[in-house]
Amino acid sequence: MSETPLENVVIIGSGPAGWSSAIYAARAQLNPVVYEGAITEENRMAGTLPLGQLALTSEVENFAGFPAGNLSGFLDSALPANRRGMMAPHAGEGVTGPELMELMRQQAVNFGTRVITDDVAKVDFSTNPFRLFPSAGGEVQAKCVIVATGASANWLGLESEERFKNRGVSACAVCDGALPRFRNKELVVVGGGDSAVEEATYLTKFASRVHLVHRRDELRASKIMAQRAIDDPKVEIHFNSTLEEVLGDDANGVTGVRLGSTDSANEATTIEVAGVFLAIGHTPNTAFLDGQLETNEKGYLVWKKHFRTNTSVDGVFAAGDVADDYYRQAISAAGTGCMAGLDAERWLAHG
Ligand code: NAP
Repeated sequence: MSETPLENVVIIGSGPAGWSSAIYAARAQLNPVVYEGAITEENRMAGTLPLGQLALTSEVENFAGFPAGNLSGFLDSALPANRRGMMAPHAGEGVTGPELMELMRQQAVNFGTRVITDDVAKVDFSTNPFRLFPSAGGEVQAKCVIVATGASANWLGLESEERFKNRGVSACAVCDGALPRFRNKELVVVGGGDSAVEEATYLTKFASRVHLVHRRDELRASKIMAQRAIDDPKVEIHFNSTLEEVLGDDANGVTGVRLGSTDSANEATTIEVAGVFLAIGHTPNTAFLDGQLETNEKGYLVWKKHFRTNTSVDGVFAAGDVADDYYRQAISAAGTGCMAGLDAERWLAHG
């Protein structure tokens, strides 16, 4: 009979928080293992494939250290000639989300992180060593766990939305926007945050027109991103509007939408569109924890010590979007991943 392996640190999740905690734990010689998630259709639909939400985005303009734009003058004056080549692949190009994630993964692997392409389906935090049960079967034990499972896109919950998922309804423009069914067609994006305007402007690459449907009279998105959507001649913003029904049929998938109005002066309208993209926020990926860690009222994991990543169970730490309903940025997730790696190291050293 094979023995249950006992790990120092198991990191669950493979976004910027997971890889940053792995880099710190590996450099501290803790020999960490990362469960990066399983590659399944179920995870694809839920938006929980390995490498997290950044793998579903396009250009990342705000991760410090990966600038886009003209760098040549800077590089010539700031770096000695023999160091300029190092910057060449990204000089001026910026970085995309998938590239950034692959780089972080490789950085963690280079320091000795072991990576398992599977989900942790269940945990038992009632005893230490903690018990973890991967989807593929078996059990792993860990002295210390870092939960970095992120958050996934929300859906409106309409029956018609469910009916046309994968046939014109999507929660990820970057994953699905280039599909032939959306080319040169009118499309709808629902939401008013950064994700919605980012998706709307991204979709203008393929669509003839993008209708941004937002329930209020002003966008929540940051000014710079909102202005980009407002200025884009291919984006039409429908304020005070709600998606009431996705229209379509079995042969064609989505053919239109029925919009309602939150403003009594406006009537409901129908628009012919080939696709509907939801960008209405996220829910933290905590179901596998089965309530064993304390959460806030929105379901996000709670840090129990000020500016430390300790959760309600001693020896379990949380990093990234699964514990952050406020900043939700790649760089803040990476930062809290670093904190969790250091917290785990110190906890293992001192208890
Ligand atoms: P968000 O900021 O929470 O925005 C969600 C949007 O969906 C809001 O406009 C909200 O409307 C709307 N909404 C929520 N539930 C709805 C419902 N049931 N029906 C209709 N509309 C609904 O989420 P996000 O845009 O995904 O952004 C999350 C975080 O990631 C933010 O911190 C954002 O800055 C960041 N982000 C950054 C970038 C970037 O910098 N490149 C890109 C994407 C996301 P209300 O406004 O009325 O609440």
